[in-house]
Amino acid sequence: MFQNKRAGLDRSASYTLSKAKTVNKSSIKRQSTADDRSPFEQSIHRLAARAGDVPIGWRPVYHKALVALRAIDCPARAHIQLTSPRMADLNLDVGVTKPDSCIDGILRKLRLRTACTCELCGATGTLRSMDRTLQVMCAECAAPRLLRFWISSFVQQMAGALPSGSRLVYTYDQVPLQLRPLIPATAWSASGESCKGALAVSLSLIEMAAFQGRFEAVGNSLDLLVAAKDSQ
Ligand SMILES: [Zn+2]
Repeated sequence: MFQNKRAGLDRSASYTLSKAKTVNKSSIKRQSTADDRSPFEQSIHRLAARAGDVPIGWRPVYHKALVALRAIDCPARAHIQLTSPRMADLNLDVGVTKPDSCIDGILRKLRLRTACTCELCGATGTLRSMDRTLQVMCAECAAPRLLRFWISSFVQQMAGALPSGSRLVYTYDQVPLQLRPLIPATAWSASGESCKGALAVSLSLIEMAAFQGRFEAVGNSLDLLVAAKDSQ
């Protein structure tokens, strides 16, 4: 009975040890697989893990670059490493620790393609100035955002015009192109000067403030439009 019990304990101990050995082998195997990846493969893996940080419109171009980089993986490139993507204003840039004509070509193509691809939707885009920032955007994505920016800027000026007794006067040409349709033609006064044969007109900031409500209503509609597009 006592012996049987010991024998039972021994078997149990032996089983536990055997299981532990299996676990250790499996863990060693997994670790070995990860360690077997060359620095080049590991750096591509790290770039893939950063894809969520890349603007959504640039992700297809980014993924194509990663596929191209994986395709040229070979022992000669094993110790070359790629550095994290840098989201510049102008394009998407990935660095490399050692010059290599094939890798350089893929990364150059990534820079060139992202420089003309809308960051927001992936359509053909161009570099646009938005407030103090630069972004690559297509006309469809840029138009409502640019109009929203100008509306916010002028609403802010209008709000301070009356309290400060502003004497600021805008000529027609000084009002951003995108805002002119919001001001009725009858609101402009002839300034008496002519430019290339056309009668120059102007409007004081205080006169423009009469249309602040219209500016704000259009601004709110644009916010809804942009939010709806972003959620698609
Ligand atoms: Zn776009």
